[in-house]
Amino acid sequence: MPVARILFTLPLPEPFDYAVPEGMEIAEGSYVAAPVGKYDRLGIVVEILPDAAGEGRALKEVAEVYPVPPMTAAMRDFLSFSARYTVSHPGQLLSMALRARGGLLPSPTETVYEATGAMPARMTEAREKVLEAAGQSDALTAAELAQAAGVSSGVVKGLAEAGALRALEMLSDPPFPKPDPDLPGADLTAEQEEAAEALRAAARAGGFQPFLIDGVTGSGKTEVYFEAIAETLKADPEAQVLVLLPEIALTQAILSRFEARFGAPPAPWHSGLSDKERRRTWRETAHGRARIVIGARSALFLPFRKLKLVIVDEEHDGSFKQEEGVTYHARDMAVMRAKLEDAAVILASATPSLETIVNAESGRYVRLKLSARPGAARLPDVELVDLRADPPPKGMWLSSRLVNEMRATFEAGEQTLLFLNRRGYAPLVICKACGERLKSPGTENWLTEHRYTGRLVCHVTGFSMPKPKTCPHCGAADSLMGVGPGVERVAEEVRVLMPEARIEIFSSDTAQGGEATRGIVERMEAGEIDVLIGTQIVAKGHNFPKLTLVGVVDADSGMKGGDLRAGERTYQLLSQVAGRAGRAERPGRALVQTYAPENPAMLALADGDRDGFLQIERDVRAELGLPPFGRLAAVILSGPTAELVDETARTIAELAPNGEGVELYGPAPAPITVLRGRHRRRFLVKTARNVDLPAYMAAWVAKLKLPSAVRLSVDIDPYSFL
Ligand code: ADP
Repeated sequence: MPVARILFTLPLPEPFDYAVPEGMEIAEGSYVAAPVGKYDRLGIVVEILPDAAGEGRALKEVAEVYPVPPMTAAMRDFLSFSARYTVSHPGQLLSMALRARGGLLPSPTETVYEATGAMPARMTEAREKVLEAAGQSDALTAAELAQAAGVSSGVVKGLAEAGALRALEMLSDPPFPKPDPDLPGADLTAEQEEAAEALRAAARAGGFQPFLIDGVTGSGKTEVYFEAIAETLKADPEAQVLVLLPEIALTQAILSRFEARFGAPPAPWHSGLSDKERRRTWRETAHGRARIVIGARSALFLPFRKLKLVIVDEEHDGSFKQEEGVTYHARDMAVMRAKLEDAAVILASATPSLETIVNAESGRYVRLKLSARPGAARLPDVELVDLRADPPPKGMWLSSRLVNEMRATFEAGEQTLLFLNRRGYAPLVICKACGERLKSPGTENWLTEHRYTGRLVCHVTGFSMPKPKTCPHCGAADSLMGVGPGVERVAEEVRVLMPEARIEIFSSDTAQGGEATRGIVERMEAGEIDVLIGTQIVAKGHNFPKLTLVGVVDADSGMKGGDLRAGERTYQLLSQVAGRAGRAERPGRALVQTYAPENPAMLALADGDRDGFLQIERDVRAELGLPPFGRLAAVILSGPTAELVDETARTIAELAPNGEGVELYGPAPAPITVLRGRHRRRFLVKTARNVDLPAYMAAWVAKLKLPSAVRLSVDIDPYSFL
């Protein structure tokens, strides 16, 4: 019997050998189940060894092969690469690729009902409602039909018995409709056409080729990469395309754009999907039938059959970095995946990351520039408002300059967007009597006041409680006071200043789920909102034609903290936000309130001098040997007591291998010192560009024996320094 070497979706260091029973069809990459301990576990075959490999060994047998095409060699290579790069077990990466187990089996079927046209002998009000509902939509299950009609499902069954409804067996998760690459795209401007043609040529030629579409906000980057998708689908009838997007909120609007362009919605993949939707996308991708998949970062781990193009839209976005569990940066991994798949990859952004800019300038990426908005739309004028010279009244947050512009905008029948990246009412609650700052229990994190829900919330741990009547520290009554601005508080201020204006808040608290988000976006598009006050959720993806004024309430808020990318991130976020203004024929303005107008990020914003700003950032990073000119890794240790973590940290510091060009900083308390009751310490490892940092980290971790209560996580290329 041949021997199958199986990698399981378990954090085990290596694969195990199993005998392949007579007659079982198995190949490298097959998805299988085989016994590990008492249970059958899921895994893939990484190698098939000849019969001789099993001789004299009491091997257990493979239990089952799933009816899915085997995982491709490129995908398996990608998982091995990712495991090595992230200092994780290959099995952990494999479980990320197998997040929808239902997809391993063929789609189940379900019974649906459609109207036959015959009327039942006895008609009741409930029966009428069901027949009406059945006439209005595609075939529905008994439960769906009953729900649509607001009756019990017994009524549906009764109608089927009476011959008025017909039962049909249908696939629960049918294949996605095929996209049509031959539908016409937009009439491209000369500049867009040039970029599109470079991409089409790459699609025709095939092979690995990275591109950067470096285009100002609203310049038509999406229209241009649509051309690349169309050409890829035309060039190969089996080609698949993956589009990664940073936010689900964005997905709604973009899904409709895909549908308009290709005549069919793409297959979606993100954390908001139901199990059924998830297994459907997984299965259709694995069988090669889903031609366009659009998803969040984890879509990178879907088992494509023939991936020919990967697009990372808003490539600079921080949400491409996975921070928990296996930490990875989806943009960097996307380039690697494309390389292993021999596919093209397109990164798109108005404010590319320094990493990507450096790659473009060195010629590793082909840079396609889009410098103008098509048609009448113009980029907004950006003006800094120096809050030292024009301070808002005490307890208020809007300067007179901004308020005057907002009033003028309102009178002109146009819309204002106020941007403040702080949810809730106030980011800090203190007691006027004793000075206590309210924190999340067992941590150093401040609680944010939310007036909308009447609760105090920790945005780090998720802890929340009703706002107490008395101070939990000194017991003083009515002494708790919110300090600093959040979107709810700014909304309150605008309501007083502009009582006639229609005001709404747009943050993850007010817009949970697609429905609520769509509602706000639609009202904004329809001009039913005069002032929208939002967090970073508003920064991207929306085109609001009547939005002509953007006000940044606190441009300095992202600059605090010791994050090496604070300036870059602030610049990116604020230019995205400012870029919301002036999308149509009306010119837009952005007023940026700051206490530090001389900061290079602010100056660059006002002058529209992105490249000048990047040059300064680049010089600083090069000088300090920080990414992309050097490499960084973080190690976070956490444990139940400060003493235990400190002691462990000291021990492991001593075990750090010596390496040329390697500098070790720490242990130091992590910026979030206590999280969910666990004390945290952090090391930072900085190395020269040419050091194999994952190998160094793996060598270090291999030497460690940690107390069982202590957890260690390694983050290669850390982005947040929490
Ligand atoms: P970006 O992705 O660069 O922000 P989009 O592709 O979203 O830009 O384009 C911004 C807006 O301009 C969209 O509404 C898009 O449909 C429109 N647009 C872009 N290019 C063209 C064009 N050549 N003709 C007509 N409309 C265009």
